[in-house]
Amino acid sequence: MTGNNIFPVPNATLPYWRSELHGIDSLRTTEELPKECDVLIIGAGLSGVSTAYHLLSDNPSPPSIVLLEAREICSGATGRNGGHLLSPHSYVDPVVREHGVDAARELALFQRDQIYAMKGIAEKENLDCDAVLTRYFETFLTQAHADKVKRQYKEQLKAGLDFIQDVQYVGPKYAEQGSCRFVLYDIKHANWNQLSGVKGAKGGTTTTALQLWPYKFVTGLLARLVERTSINIQTHTPVTSVSPSEDAGSIVTTSRGSIKARKVVFATNAYTAGICPTIEKKIVPIKITCSHIKVPEKSPNQPPHLSHTYGINFNDSSRDYLIPRPDGGIICGGAKSTYAGDKNLWFNNVDDSTLIEQARPHFETVMQDNFRGWENSGAAVDYLWTGKYFADMREVIGYTADSWPHCGKVHGQENHYVLAGYNGAGMPVIFLAAKGISKMIREDVPFEESGIPRIFKVTEKRLEKDVTR
Ligand SMILES: Cc1cc2nc3c(=O)[nH]c(=O)nc-3n(C[C@H](O)[C@H](O)[C@H](O)COP(=O)(O)OP(=O)(O)OC[C@H]3O[C@@H](n4cnc5c(N)ncnc54)[C@H](O)[C@@H]3O)c2cc1C
Repeated sequence: MTGNNIFPVPNATLPYWRSELHGIDSLRTTEELPKECDVLIIGAGLSGVSTAYHLLSDNPSPPSIVLLEAREICSGATGRNGGHLLSPHSYVDPVVREHGVDAARELALFQRDQIYAMKGIAEKENLDCDAVLTRYFETFLTQAHADKVKRQYKEQLKAGLDFIQDVQYVGPKYAEQGSCRFVLYDIKHANWNQLSGVKGAKGGTTTTALQLWPYKFVTGLLARLVERTSINIQTHTPVTSVSPSEDAGSIVTTSRGSIKARKVVFATNAYTAGICPTIEKKIVPIKITCSHIKVPEKSPNQPPHLSHTYGINFNDSSRDYLIPRPDGGIICGGAKSTYAGDKNLWFNNVDDSTLIEQARPHFETVMQDNFRGWENSGAAVDYLWTGKYFADMREVIGYTADSWPHCGKVHGQENHYVLAGYNGAGMPVIFLAAKGISKMIREDVPFEESGIPRIFKVTEKRLEKDVTR
């Protein structure tokens, strides 16, 4: 696959999150495309909409902004994900090894701050998006994996990484039962004496997390901009190329004509290589799958409500993640072991118009198989869908890798900015990364003053690492 055919496809599978559409879903502010603008943002997922929000909020001299989207608003990964933000402390270890303790602390605190920033903005803007601040219970079903995580946890404590105060390690005695009796008293959001309920858990950790309805967050936020700014939104308008103009700006060519832009933001996630050649072969699109599981209202065996969000690590290379929705439904993603062997299904694959049917039987019984009290619940899949995230291939095949996002100025392009490549975990990164990108644009500051973690910076060295099979 080359950069030339990495574009969103039509007729994408229907995720649960897009079962209730907002009035702006297919908005075109004007019939014709504007001729020019100050900032042109490509992609209307969480990255693009958050960037627009930060560019336009509390700004006495707001730039003219055009937001272009190939399909509908929030029809990409943000509208198809697990609806979950967490700051996983286990991801910190490779950062400590490669970049040192300060870079690791910076990353972990950035992710933690994102949880509160998204919750705060949902409240400030009165977004009806089912945001719930909670605890994430990551469980490990093999003793070897649980022991490895315990070692990591202790090393992080020893290294003085202060964010670790928010992490609770739960050993084998209580992992399945999951009592939080030993949670530190200064942790505000711990669930006391709640059960993990994950059968056979040999160990676990809990951390602060946020769950929400991502489509409603994004469309709600964008609707606020429509109400109070002059942002021009053009859906169903794929960008086919971005080229330099004579006066240091860019000509952005779409299926409906061209726009001249002083600055361009690539918020195009898995599809960035389609229009941003420097990204080609550095990171590749990976197709993954997610489900919504429902218990029949008339089931005589109503299961217990789950009060955490969860990760289930079946072994150290197979993990499901799930959130119990406030209405009793479950969003569950993962099931990788059911289809990983067929690489054509998922590797370098942008087609989210087809399902990964191999995963369906796994999701049909994941609650019955893994949670106490769910055995006879009748829980069953009512939505199954696919989506894309941008992944560094080395991470996918399990090597130690630089699997961090690319944020900042596009290499060699003064007026082009990118925020993409979140390796399947963009939710705890994007909103504040977009704030940093907007600061670079608004105040013309260098990356180092943007507030974005240093390891996300687009550098020549990072781009040297070509991804090969
Ligand atoms: C099944 C699944 C589950 C996930 N679960 C989680 C989770 O629980 N927690 C978490 O943190 N992360 C999760 N992720 C990852 C997370 O969803 C992404 O990191 C995040 O949504 C990326 O947001 P974005 O705005 O950058 O990209 P997107 O939401 O993909 O938005 C990019 C937009 O750009 C548009 N676009 C692309 N190319 C063009 C073009 N040429 N012209 C015009 N428009 C274009 C696309 O149509 C799309 O709407 C998951 C992803 C998937 C697929």
